[in-house]
Amino acid sequence: MKNSVPTLEERKLKLERLKKVILKKEVLINKALMDDLGKSHFETYLTEVGFIIEEISFVVKNLENWAKPRRVSTPMNLFPAKSYIHPSPYGEVLIMSPWNYPFQLCIGPMIGALAAGNRVVLKPSEFAPHTARVVREVIEETYKPNEVKIVEGGVSETQELLKQKFDYIFFTGSTPVGKIVMKAAAEHLTPLTLELGGKSPCLIEESANIDLAAKRCAWGKFLNAGQTCVAPDYVLVPKKYQHDFIDRLNFHLKNFYGDSPAGSPDYPRIVNEKHFDRLEQLLIPAKIAIGGETSRENKFISPTVMKDVSWSDEVMQDEIFGPILPVIPYEDLDEALEEVAKHSKPLAFYVFSENSKKAEKIMQDMSFGGGCINDTIMHLGNPNLPFGGVGASGMGSYHGQRSFETFSHMKSVLVQKTKVDIPLRYPPYNGKLSWLKMFLR
Ligand code: NAD
Repeated sequence: MKNSVPTLEERKLKLERLKKVILKKEVLINKALMDDLGKSHFETYLTEVGFIIEEISFVVKNLENWAKPRRVSTPMNLFPAKSYIHPSPYGEVLIMSPWNYPFQLCIGPMIGALAAGNRVVLKPSEFAPHTARVVREVIEETYKPNEVKIVEGGVSETQELLKQKFDYIFFTGSTPVGKIVMKAAAEHLTPLTLELGGKSPCLIEESANIDLAAKRCAWGKFLNAGQTCVAPDYVLVPKKYQHDFIDRLNFHLKNFYGDSPAGSPDYPRIVNEKHFDRLEQLLIPAKIAIGGETSRENKFISPTVMKDVSWSDEVMQDEIFGPILPVIPYEDLDEALEEVAKHSKPLAFYVFSENSKKAEKIMQDMSFGGGCINDTIMHLGNPNLPFGGVGASGMGSYHGQRSFETFSHMKSVLVQKTKVDIPLRYPPYNGKLSWLKMFLR
């Protein structure tokens, strides 16, 4: 059976319905996120439910405009033709999501894919099973299986899915699995977006407001217990301010989570024992300046800051993806930036500075997916900013209009008239070359 493309009205109605179903099931979603990651309801609303509700509203409001055929100018030699770009759906899209924001990273890309008129096969993460279950409920109450189909499972199910031919693949996850996905896509020449990870630096420049930098850094790092792809992975701080910076981190962390973060209702847990063990091994007792408490039984690692960390330490070899913040003191800013540039291109880059010219120059010179001056993570809060990586942190981007474009093939169409037929292009060419050269120069 040929699948017809839903009209814009149908897509908007379905997205509105999706919003209603999500809000109706908010309590279940909160519970699932609490069970999978110990996420507070506030964090769940901020980074999962509220984020998605806002994205749906934004897409529904603008869809008509984005989906219009876009008229572009036509050169004189093609007179009297007109030219258009028609956004058109790819067809069937495979979306695979990770466990760290298991609701947002599943539903978010799906909104763009459906807004663009595609059908979706959705694969939630097996490591957030409670959320995967509630995602299934939300989808099954909103969409027919020929509109959105859920496939649950782990590595072998993903490998089976990747053998099939899709019209587009959207993968969020680690860089190593991203390479596997890209190889599989190459077999069918399937276009794809890779939303990957990596080590995102946070640079404190010497003019920075150290107190506010520490506060915003602490928030961005320990949100979701550091299990955030755009969390500051490590901090570079002028050597003379390392002590002050850590002191302010300590002050703000106490304000956020109290003297005993294990008892804070706002501090999440590590997703599973495997990640707990991986993270625990990264702790260097002699370098711990804040925190360092762990409980395998409760999958708990307190907000931990390590000082005097060097590039050769184990914790600096791979993305941390947990609540451990290494602080690397530097003496020369250019040398520190050169060191960053020697490593893979990060997903995010943050600079704290009161010198706006310097901060903007650093942001221009470095290569990274996206970032902030004087903040962390908040660039994701603006649906007008495309979100994605570069190099090892990914390819392609989404959110807002960019999601619609990512999931649309831009079809180019030239509409020629039949009343006139300029003979220049037809043989015999004798005597026509000088005319042609007048147009094509
Ligand atoms: P992952 O790449 O380990 O796993 C993602 C999914 O891929 C899994 O659910 C699994 O089903 C599948 N998979 C794993 N190994 C596979 C294999 N060998 N063959 C086929 N499929 C396989 O990622 P994760 O642990 O779920 O998530 C953490 C990573 O995701 C981090 O690196 C993080 O930075 C990144 N991330 C990126 C973004 C972003 O938007 N750029 C957002 C969140 C997380």
